[in-house]
Amino acid sequence: MLENRPVTRSTFDEVMVPNYAPADMIPVRGEGSRVWDQQGREYIDLAGGIAVTALGHCHPELVRSLTEQANTLWHLSNVLTNEPALKLARVLTEKTFAERVFFANSGGEANEAAFKLARRYAWQKFGGERHEIVACDNSFHGRTLFTVTVGGQAKYREGFEPVPAGVRHVPFNDEAALEAAITDKTCAFVVEPIQGEGGVTPATLSYLKKARELCSARGALLIFDEVQSGMGRTGTLYAYEQFGVVPDILTTAKALGCGFPVGAMLTTADVAAALVVGTHGSTYGGNPLACAVSLTALELISSPDVLQGVAQRHALLKAGLEAIQQEFGLFRTVRGMGLLMGCELADTWKGQAKALMMAAQAKGVLVLIAGPDVLRLAPSLIIPEADLKAGLAGLREAVAELKASKT
Ligand SMILES: *Cc1c(COP(=O)(O)O)cnc(C)c1O
Repeated sequence: MLENRPVTRSTFDEVMVPNYAPADMIPVRGEGSRVWDQQGREYIDLAGGIAVTALGHCHPELVRSLTEQANTLWHLSNVLTNEPALKLARVLTEKTFAERVFFANSGGEANEAAFKLARRYAWQKFGGERHEIVACDNSFHGRTLFTVTVGGQAKYREGFEPVPAGVRHVPFNDEAALEAAITDKTCAFVVEPIQGEGGVTPATLSYLKKARELCSARGALLIFDEVQSGMGRTGTLYAYEQFGVVPDILTTAKALGCGFPVGAMLTTADVAAALVVGTHGSTYGGNPLACAVSLTALELISSPDVLQGVAQRHALLKAGLEAIQQEFGLFRTVRGMGLLMGCELADTWKGQAKALMMAAQAKGVLVLIAGPDVLRLAPSLIIPEADLKAGLAGLREAVAELKASKT
């Protein structure tokens, strides 16, 4: 019964839908912040599975929770509830502003739930006129039809029209534009406290404060998409804590399961009340395996040790990136919060982020990009200092080589 034939990168082109362009090498094993490919080559992981593996690969406590739950109970459906889901939801409500939790399987699904809830809440409270969702240019909220519609990148909608109506976009961090856009037709304004896919750009404090004021004054809900910025990534459990601006709905995924698929929408009891029995659901949402892993991840990540460690690693990472910037002049800016950092390429290097990512990989360092012009780093929150330094050294070599090849 075992499929024994070997697989290689070319198998991808033979059997997979061509919507991704993965690297030539195939990782087969990971431990901490290192992974090894089919040929046994070692890589330092500064990508973290796109801000997902916040505790590195195969963290022993996560492995223990997963295997214990795997030997206990896998799945029930939402016809029945389960202990891991209730425990996880209770801790999430204790550690955040939220009073109620809805579980999904991904960030896109958590956002889909948030947008549906915002519409339903407004529909119940004000009637169907107030249905508009305001979102930011360049934002990313997922790949379902509704979430690509709300997302501020037209390329993800192209060819998939007609898309749902009642969505409006405003420039990010532009308070006057927001003031003009939020009206008595607006049910919600959604924003990433740090735009991740859009280029690792933090919101300004005054923008988020203004958003809170406008939403409260005009009867719209404020939604923070913390799918990427959440779960310790910025040095607090959620980024909103650092801004001191509290949303009505928060979505979380990625690092929530540290690699096990899970997402959640957090909200207040008042707003949650709009999703009455039968209005929304998910077969796997709140699955015991996902919730058991996530509960352990949450307990580990919210410890002062891990959160303070993010600030220390941020300082090291930022200094290392700035040193590379000073030596080679390839970057225009180094920005971000905690362990979500972006290096925007200088004008003469525009469009070269992917080339830099490939060069780093050739040096044994996994990094990410955020669009064509931004190198993105999202390592494990507990990456050992030695690995972080080695990763930076490899990245420096890659930058040096790329620069030499162009001059
Ligand atoms: C990754 C991401 C999503 C989508 O999450 P999926 O799990 O891929 O559906 C949504 N919002 C933000 C901010 C993200 O970074």
